[in-house]
Amino acid sequence: MPFTTLRLSDRISLIQETGVANFMRCNIWHVRGREFDLVIDTGMGVSPLKDWILRESDRPLKAIVTHCHFDHSAGLHEFDCRLGHPAEAHILAHPSNPDVVYSGAWTEIDVIDPRQHPDFRREHFHVTPAPLTGYLDEGDVLDLGDAAYQILHLPGHSPGSIGLWDVKSKTLFSGDALYDGELLDNLYHSEKETYRRTLERIAGLGAETFHAGHYPSFGKEKMQEIVNLYLQGRMALTDVKSWYQEECASSADIYVPQDWSKAKRV
Ligand SMILES: [Zn+2]
Repeated sequence: MPFTTLRLSDRISLIQETGVANFMRCNIWHVRGREFDLVIDTGMGVSPLKDWILRESDRPLKAIVTHCHFDHSAGLHEFDCRLGHPAEAHILAHPSNPDVVYSGAWTEIDVIDPRQHPDFRREHFHVTPAPLTGYLDEGDVLDLGDAAYQILHLPGHSPGSIGLWDVKSKTLFSGDALYDGELLDNLYHSEKETYRRTLERIAGLGAETFHAGHYPSFGKEKMQEIVNLYLQGRMALTDVKSWYQEECASSADIYVPQDWSKAKRV
């Protein structure tokens, strides 16, 4: 199976690429609506994502990237409707490897399982150009007919990071602005002070459920814990290679997905 789908509710499913290291695999969210569906983030593109989603839905699809990084944006080109923040539009249209953060240590770790994807060569990996067909910015609303998501601009991790906020269900799709793991604030286009302000904003939203860019979903107590740790300087990823080695050492098989039974049900 190229993907696994975990149905969290009638509206929301989590799609995971198989054969991608569990600490690198971005969460792909399929959100079903009356008028159209959303696909939030698109993974590393090692298998065709659109075909997988079309097996479950015959409604129009709007694909959204929370930001341009390679682990989120490599499947975007498959979709006809491609939405993201204007600050990263030029990167998505011309995705050089350094611009999508596929450079340095990120190219030297085995993100893809050679047993499942024997043809994958990390030195040949690149993100296919996927020019945006529309922009999403602060205050825009995606109205699915039976649910509405407000766009939040959440810069810091990257300049065009966005989140999708459903005030009715108090649910935030947070991308890489916030997940339950060490946060990345030292990339070439990260801004630490901006990131702090974004996290303080998220903490004050009143959200109760967080569907993040990586790792299992969580609630507001965990959110506050992560934000507090970050603000104390204890939740930032500093060295990719030692992080990778720790992840390998703590797991018998880094490509076996995490225990998602702990994922918050909504
Ligand atoms: Zn990222």
